[in-house]
Amino acid sequence: MNTDADPRPLHLLRTVFGHPAFRGAQEDIVTHVAGGGDALVLMPTGGGKSLCYQLPALLREGTALVVSPLIALMQDQVAALKQLGVRAAFLNSTMDGRAVNACERALRNGELDLLYVAPERLMMPRMLDCLAESNIALFAIDEAHCVSQWGHDFRPEYLQLSVLHEQFPAVPRIALTATADPQTREEIIRRLALDDARVFISSFDRPNIRYTIVDKQDARNQLLRFIREEHAGEAGIVYCLSRKKVDETAAWLVSHGVRALPYHAGMDAESRADHQNRFQREEGVVVVATIAFGMGIDKPDVRFVAHLDLPKSIEGYYQETGRAGRDGVPADAWMTYGLGDVVQQRRMIDHSEGSEEYRRVLVVKLDALLGLCETAGCRRVRLLDYFGEPSTPCGNCDTCLEPPQTWDATEAARKALSCMYRTGQRFGAVHLIDVLRGRATERTAQWGHEQLNVFGIGAGLDEPAWRNVFRQLVALGYAEPDHDAFGALKLTDASRPVLKGEQSVEMRHLQPRKGKAARTRSAALSGLSAAEGGLLDQLKAWRLEQARQQAVPAYVILHDRTLAEIAALRPGDMNALGMVSGIGAKKLERYGAALLELVRT
Ligand code: ADP
Ligand code: ZN
Repeated sequence: MNTDADPRPLHLLRTVFGHPAFRGAQEDIVTHVAGGGDALVLMPTGGGKSLCYQLPALLREGTALVVSPLIALMQDQVAALKQLGVRAAFLNSTMDGRAVNACERALRNGELDLLYVAPERLMMPRMLDCLAESNIALFAIDEAHCVSQWGHDFRPEYLQLSVLHEQFPAVPRIALTATADPQTREEIIRRLALDDARVFISSFDRPNIRYTIVDKQDARNQLLRFIREEHAGEAGIVYCLSRKKVDETAAWLVSHGVRALPYHAGMDAESRADHQNRFQREEGVVVVATIAFGMGIDKPDVRFVAHLDLPKSIEGYYQETGRAGRDGVPADAWMTYGLGDVVQQRRMIDHSEGSEEYRRVLVVKLDALLGLCETAGCRRVRLLDYFGEPSTPCGNCDTCLEPPQTWDATEAARKALSCMYRTGQRFGAVHLIDVLRGRATERTAQWGHEQLNVFGIGAGLDEPAWRNVFRQLVALGYAEPDHDAFGALKLTDASRPVLKGEQSVEMRHLQPRKGKAARTRSAALSGLSAAEGGLLDQLKAWRLEQARQQAVPAYVILHDRTLAEIAALRPGDMNALGMVSGIGAKKLERYGAALLELVRT
């Protein structure tokens, strides 16, 4: 580190935000922007982007304008900043004329450190006039990928933000996003006229997220077991593909004692907002959702993200799982995945509209994701590699923790493929498995399949094992769903060498139904003894009460990690408490006495 560095950023980081040290590139970014430079910041969700403009806002003269697309987020961010003693406010369409006037006056009078605004609001002539009469420290453009017309978060209002540069050329701008791919990056630079901005790209690794992909057997019960054993009473998100499945899964979880709420685009706006709000504010709510539940979630203590259906790409998977564990505390990304998922996604691509070229892109993206699902190597290495980042096995994913056994499946693959061939490539896995296992059914009789020489040649493997084989055959490209016949599997060009015995096939074994003793619950707050756990529960109860009284989400008062640290360290006085990460001067002053009292008793 440069010893000549300005000491003020670190001082503010410690005293205002209560963090002992900068993370990653934060310090460089803060220094650069505070010094008047433009910046484009690419950091994974949870990486700590907010500080990159909040600190320069405090370091520079005047008010920092923060453009953010989501009103609910804005309100929570402002509440959190006020807790730290920062002069923050927001301006959006939910406010009445008087509140707007007061806010504009405060801006003109230089009484604000930060002002959050929705993009459409910012672009109003009245607002631009007001800015011209005020002292503006910087513009921060959050969720900058919203300028991209090709992404799913596109906001037309974002396209107009280049006006800021034209009207206020001397004011530094910082654009931030968690979207990693080079095309989006380029589009942001072009559309926001950020050609001279310094680009800061952080590692996209999220080391506190544990990736697990399990064989789909009985998805709902697997999910329920996962929630009960690892995340009872904790907040999480469950992603499903269809609205119907969202509704059914949420209702089913509720009937099994989980505080689950559905969320999808087919619901009316009011219930959607209500469910999102409850997720954000209450503790331990599980939202079951389609991907419509997305960008608006800024909850740091989501302890798990579960997928009951396969996403379409690694980008999608990474963005969705990235909503877990933004607070840096251990969290889970968990998915069940089976033959049906592969078939379904392949068929959706087959039947999707768009050019041949477009469909090919979809296939490549899906294949990359299937590669992640089927890998016997480290999941994280695969993920990061996809984003162009080299890494070494992580020790915090299912394949690192329990390396899957692989087996020589050449013989089984040949039997399965010849069974498909002999039965005319017109049947799905269920029937094929009956034939292989020699199980006589109405259908095997009806089609004369009991007379085929493949009937019963696979009696040595049980049904789940065969399903596993068929899934991998499709995932590896040795078989594919028929475009026209629903559920039917057919051969591909890659099948022939396997059938002819010219190529061997390696497959993953079916995972044992239950791994080693389930990780003790609340890995999130691991390492706490029973006594510490008791204190933690009390701290949480106290926090909930505070949050209720002040009508803010619990994490705005103090983060899980801060509570866990207090429970573990049991600070005896204000000085010791002040050392805890997440406790700055203002929070010490406000809550110190109450916290010490809780620790003492
Ligand atoms: P992002 O916007 O990149 O998703 P946030 O700005 O919300 O991330 O930060 C994520 C979490 O990390 C927050 O809980 C924040 O308090 C915490 N954080 C940020 N910077 C630091 C730091 N230097 N030290 C400790 N915690 C930090
Ligand atoms: Zn790993």
